[in-house]
Amino acid sequence: MNVHQLSEHQIQGLQQELLKSKDALADQINLSAEATGVVILDQTAVGRVSRIDAMQQQSMAVSTKAKAVTKLKKVAEALIAIKNGDYGYCRRCDEPIASARLAAQPEANLCLLCQDKVDRQQ
Ligand SMILES: [Zn+2]
Repeated sequence: MNVHQLSEHQIQGLQQELLKSKDALADQINLSAEATGVVILDQTAVGRVSRIDAMQQQSMAVSTKAKAVTKLKKVAEALIAIKNGDYGYCRRCDEPIASARLAAQPEANLCLLCQDKVDRQQ
């Protein structure tokens, strides 16, 4: 196991950030629950253009919500990792994740190299 480069204090700061974004994401998911519901339109009152509009807005809301759900999952995992004392290590190669990367993205669970490999596969 590598020596961790994050201090206890840094981890506490990141934990606060994670808890904040956990709340914000949960709110966002709750709020978008309505927007992602079935599009109900009065066919007589709404023209074709606004129907397409409503459908596009709905699909945007769905993808925004899906992103929020994925991020919330990573945030929750990071919080668990902090509790278990294995926060800040890459899940693929077990190397410490750069502290600058964690500062920008506290929920990151891959180092930059592995993230790059994963992104290329997609
Ligand atoms: Zn890695």
